[in-house]
Amino acid sequence: MTSPAQSSAANARRVFIKSYGCQMNVYDAQRMADVVGPEGFVETSRIEDADLVVLNTCHIRERASEKIYSELGKVRELKRERASQGLETTLVVAGCVAQAEGREILRRQPAVDLVVGPQNYHRLPELVAKARRERVVDTEFPSEDKFDHLPAPSREAVQARGVSAFVTVQEGCDKFCAFCVVPYTRGAEMSRPVDKILREIEGLAASGAREFTLIGQNVNAYHGLDATGQTIALAGLFARAAQIPGVLRLRYSTSHPLDMDEALIRAHAENEKLAPYLHLPIQSGSDRILDAMNRRHSAAEYLDIVERVRRARPDIALSSDFIVGFPGETDEDFHATLALVREVGFASAYAFKYSARPGTPAAEKEDQTAEALKAERLAELQALLEAQRQRFNRDTVGKRFGVVFDKPGRHAGQLVGRSPYMQGVHADVDAARVGEMTEVEIVDIRPNSLSGRIVVAPSSWSSTPVITESMEERC
Ligand code: SAM
Ligand code: SF4
Repeated sequence: MTSPAQSSAANARRVFIKSYGCQMNVYDAQRMADVVGPEGFVETSRIEDADLVVLNTCHIRERASEKIYSELGKVRELKRERASQGLETTLVVAGCVAQAEGREILRRQPAVDLVVGPQNYHRLPELVAKARRERVVDTEFPSEDKFDHLPAPSREAVQARGVSAFVTVQEGCDKFCAFCVVPYTRGAEMSRPVDKILREIEGLAASGAREFTLIGQNVNAYHGLDATGQTIALAGLFARAAQIPGVLRLRYSTSHPLDMDEALIRAHAENEKLAPYLHLPIQSGSDRILDAMNRRHSAAEYLDIVERVRRARPDIALSSDFIVGFPGETDEDFHATLALVREVGFASAYAFKYSARPGTPAAEKEDQTAEALKAERLAELQALLEAQRQRFNRDTVGKRFGVVFDKPGRHAGQLVGRSPYMQGVHADVDAARVGEMTEVEIVDIRPNSLSGRIVVAPSSWSSTPVITESMEERC
């Protein structure tokens, strides 16, 4: 009879990676799986089967950050359980909490073997090997570019991840908003070279990816060099990416209002592959608070961008991020935020309670807002945003647009994909249509998705959406 340890050795080693927070972390988690794949690690969705457990953490708000420690406590129990069966488990904390807290994580949780920052995960194989002998922390900002050391994902991995792919084009941030940890955890802003990004998209498209979201902490600050040494901004990158065979739709996230240049606005009118969707965080509708946040633009300047983008692409869906209860936020400031939301009319948006982050200027301020007041304001803002989301979804009924179906739905014969405006769409459609741009008419709405019916064959699909009166009215 074989012992559990012997049967584990006979099988491939397994890696379980859990990602918290933003899309950048989702991308990083996929790349970590790509890095350890050639070392014989196969991904598992069952943490109890994993020889290597990676928690890819988020530090943006206190709750996200503290959640990690309770999660680590659970993994410690699992690790003990596996050890009692003769199985070794290596526990890794990666991501922004790793970067911000480093060695402190080893102190707080003795079960952690390795702490690795977001710029160092390309070294995972050697770090994991070292962590079997001694506990390791690697949070230096390395001189080499991690992207140069990341292997391309296998065809199987790309296909398992679906037709939508994230591609990091820019990392880090130099804007230093008074509330935000990103400049400290992700470092200075840097843009990847154009050709390396295009090669990555080509590889993903050749393996079946069809929708590409170009991501960065401030993606519209992108300014990468092309092969001739020319600096290319995001609109130029989209123009080139749109030429790649297999690329059906392009998206981007997250943008800063200051970097919303004219070329990018024009790209929304001219680049047929660019989805009519813009996530443009404003954080507050009050100029006083925007100034205290060091956002370096006013509410009126934001509204001017919205107007220009809507002129360029009348059916564009807008999304944003808001923070309520920033230090010193008065009722009047909060009402300015509500007024801005009413004026813009968002298709979807995220609202957060301000969370004081150690090391950021806002955390030092005396006039912190009481938790109860933050909660009250958050509930009021979220109710308004939810009403706008539902209205936007209702207005979609009767419209036609292209959907790239991604995976089976809940019922037999059903597929699920995303509308150009980021809504989930399900329809009865042949499974062979996965990965094709298929024209759909929306016939009904559900609480969190839309129901569609197929209207024409993909060959006659046009990316120009049908604009109805109600959409034009809202602009
Ligand atoms: N770069 C984008 C911008 O300039 O708006 C935002 C990226 S940030 C990683 C994502 C969102 O997290 C922010 O838009 C903000 O709403 C929220 N956020 C960041 N720091 C926060 C804090 N200390 N408390 C609450 N929310 C925060
Ligand atoms: Fe953070 Fe965005 Fe401000 Fe940069 S621009 S500091 S990522 S909120």
